Amino acid sequence: MSDIFNFCAGPAMLPQAVMQKAQQELINWNGLGVSVMEISHRSKEFIALTQHAEKTLRELMNIPSNYHVLFMHGGGRGQFTSVVNNFLGDNGKALYLVNGQWSSAAVKEAVKIVGENNIDQINIVEKQDGLNQVVLPDLHKLDGDYRYVHYCANETVDGIEIFDDLDSPWPVVVDLSSTIMSRDIDVSKYAVIYAGAQKNIGPSGLSIVIVRDDMLKLPSLTQSSIMDYSVAQANDSMFNTPPTFAWYLAAEVFDWLSAQGGVKAMEALNKQKAALLYQCIDNNPFYTNGVAIHNRSRMNVTFQLVDSSLDGEFLKQAEQAGLVALKGHRIVGGMRASIYNAMPLEGVKALVTFMEAFARQYK
Ligand SMILES: *Cc1c(COP(=O)(O)O)cnc(C)c1O
Repeated sequence: MSDIFNFCAGPAMLPQAVMQKAQQELINWNGLGVSVMEISHRSKEFIALTQHAEKTLRELMNIPSNYHVLFMHGGGRGQFTSVVNNFLGDNGKALYLVNGQWSSAAVKEAVKIVGENNIDQINIVEKQDGLNQVVLPDLHKLDGDYRYVHYCANETVDGIEIFDDLDSPWPVVVDLSSTIMSRDIDVSKYAVIYAGAQKNIGPSGLSIVIVRDDMLKLPSLTQSSIMDYSVAQANDSMFNTPPTFAWYLAAEVFDWLSAQGGVKAMEALNKQKAALLYQCIDNNPFYTNGVAIHNRSRMNVTFQLVDSSLDGEFLKQAEQAGLVALKGHRIVGGMRASIYNAMPLEGVKALVTFMEAFARQYK
């Protein structure tokens, strides 16, 4: 099993060292003789864990002190709802930029809650020379009274990433689910950052929200307490029982990230991994990728076989070579290699070697 490289988009692979440590302490955590899953979230040991997790995350992302860090339920989609609930009371309006499946799903959820009249959307993907690219609109030229502008920095399904900061007159809310901590970002440019955990942080179910203090003063809709940022903030993310095991594993991943040299070191490695894979795609007429170079995702590398009738054979042989979960999302087809922080360089090298050998068979 150790020879398997798992390219799943999510829930994604976790660092092997973290999984091994978790396995060792699964039934006896911290010398307590019980699992971290089996203790009160209000015990001093668990509270120490949560404080350590927050401290490490703050260091890793360089989070300014006027931001709250919340550990919430409900994954990425849970936050599609929470963002609307927390900021769009009193008939507030928001602007959504759409560059793929997830930002589009966020719009749908927002419209469902506050109606079409309160949600404006702009499609920011254009096709140029057959390639999809993001063209950010000049937001300063728009007149709209928006509480926030929402976008998704990395479209996990489409393989489209936005590396530029958004220059916005309104507070920026960003979905970083599949790119958080893969590269250095300036938190102070955002009002709210959220991410479902299962791509770059830990197990599914947990989501992390980084929210600037002033945002908590915006009028909210009547909502359930577990979706409410102010309630979460006032209760140290423990209004109700949090997903404790996911929180524990996230804390372990943060420690692992620090030990790797932090986000900047990860970014350098991620650039190297992505460059290797895109080079393989570009240098081989057997494969294509339809995203403009400056928007190619570093986390989710989508590619197609020019002869798509070979897709099944490609996936079969890849699996035999220990390279699993390369099938593209059912909506877009083709292939997708998700190469998050936990994917070692060797995994990408193994994939490239396989892709070159597979193409040679059909020369
Ligand atoms: C996976 C993903 C989501 C949805 O996450 P769930 O936890 O399944 O709700 C939202 N946004 C992005 C960018 C994602 O990659």
